[in-house]
Amino acid sequence: MNYLYILWGFLILSGLGAVLGVLLVLAEKLFHVEEDPRIAEVEKLLPNGNCGACGFPGCHGMAEALVNGSVKKCSTCKVGKKDKNFDPIIVYLATHPDKDGTKHVPTL
Ligand code: SF4
Repeated sequence: MNYLYILWGFLILSGLGAVLGVLLVLAEKLFHVEEDPRIAEVEKLLPNGNCGACGFPGCHGMAEALVNGSVKKCSTCKVGKKDKNFDPIIVYLATHPDKDGTKHVPTL
């Protein structure tokens, strides 16, 4: 068995992994999209079941819709609807308007 083939294979795959890793880091820096920090805060206040019953692929999508005002009722979240504890979301969005001052405050 020629161990040189194994060594070359190891070196080539390691080099390829290092180059692709650097490219991924550069792509992350170049194409980074700034997201409204309120989305993450509202997402923390949702049940985080990520079940999709609200019609969004997960709680992040629902949080984004609540923040941008495209969803007007917190009860769109079927999991949280049972507990009916959406008050923190409503209070948070009432006290944290958009950059232009617009408030999208959902109802229960
Ligand atoms: S229904 Fe509620 S728990 Fe399920 S994904 Fe939507 S926001 Fe998350």
